Amino acid sequence: MTNLISLTEADELLVSLDKKKCPWCDGNSWVMRGIPESDADSKDSIFGLRNIPTIKVYKDDNNLKATMNVGVENAMPMIVVRCNDCGFIYLFDYFKLIELSKEKNKERMDNDNDKA
Ligand SMILES: [Zn+2]
Repeated sequence: MTNLISLTEADELLVSLDKKKCPWCDGNSWVMRGIPESDADSKDSIFGLRNIPTIKVYKDDNNLKATMNVGVENAMPMIVVRCNDCGFIYLFDYFKLIELSKEKNKERMDNDNDKA
């Protein structure tokens, strides 16, 4: 079972990375776009996530058709980060952020061990 990270932890992680200027307006003020009234520190339910469903596109008698799977297993949880100046939006893969968070924690622990 993967340990979830809270939106606050995800936010801290993103801030610790090199932030880029907004490609649309050159602004550099980014905010995480949570869902109103969600608890950013909750580890039980991460309300700020959006899901991207899996879409399967196929040909049927030369017509393109598609089916969409919105099941939890096939959905891709994303964190939405928005430019505070113009509203331009970036999406981050939540599972990748968990991975990065684990690596950062490991680095921190290795550094602490070096000092001891
Ligand atoms: Zn912008």
